Amino acid sequence: LTGRPTVRIAHLYPDLMNLYGDRGNVIALRRRCEWHGLAPEVRAVGLGESGDLTSFDIIFIGGGQDREQRLICLDFVKVKGAALAEAVADGVTVLAICGGYQLLGAYYRTAEGEEMPGIGLLDAWTVAGRRRMIGNVVVESGLAATGGRRTIVGFENHSGQTYLGPGVAALGRVLTGHGNNGADGLEGATYRNVVGTYLHGSLLPKNPALTDHLIRTALRRRYGPVELAPLDDAVELAAHDAAVRRAGATGFLPV
Ligand code: GLN
Repeated sequence: LTGRPTVRIAHLYPDLMNLYGDRGNVIALRRRCEWHGLAPEVRAVGLGESGDLTSFDIIFIGGGQDREQRLICLDFVKVKGAALAEAVADGVTVLAICGGYQLLGAYYRTAEGEEMPGIGLLDAWTVAGRRRMIGNVVVESGLAATGGRRTIVGFENHSGQTYLGPGVAALGRVLTGHGNNGADGLEGATYRNVVGTYLHGSLLPKNPALTDHLIRTALRRRYGPVELAPLDDAVELAAHDAAVRRAGATGFLPV
């Protein structure tokens, strides 16, 4: 790559879907892009807006409570659903957290029995359970090896229990925490270049390999195979390791 290649990042519903600092993921993407010599551009895409989402390289949507999900879900399905499906089919990279992740699936049924439609992009569905699943999470994932670890760390708080169909793979296996539903040991979902997960935190600042994975898949689509030079991740890894310790996980997993 020559010059400072542009990386176009769409932030969906930044004012409504922004639980537990999910916005920090966009800050982390922007920062790491800059450190890699790229030129990130972030654009907010709010209610009523869609257009052609294939012009973006990375699309991000954060989490929200039932209230915010209710406010966006019809817009998400009717205004953005087709454009997002087209973008994903075209290989655009997507990261969706918690409430946003739930709405990428077929539906989210609340504890009151209300069914919010999702866009059906992921072969997954969510039904609220009686207990909230709250706490620090450590996931073992083959997707992103951070400095010799293959753990992804974050914080979850949801009552929705998400189940995966055969059309998607899990992001990883839960070592500590509840993950998708507290029953099958799985966390998150991946499909094409989409990653959905329950992990807030913010997620990306302390999982730098996952951040680079998202940037790399985005660059590959636009510019062909590229490698990212390693950065000095000492601070990020210290935060990662502290989160693993705090979660009381069983320890580091060698790659
Ligand atoms: N309202 C959803 C749930 O509780 C999502 C919450 C969230 O985004 N943290 O399952």
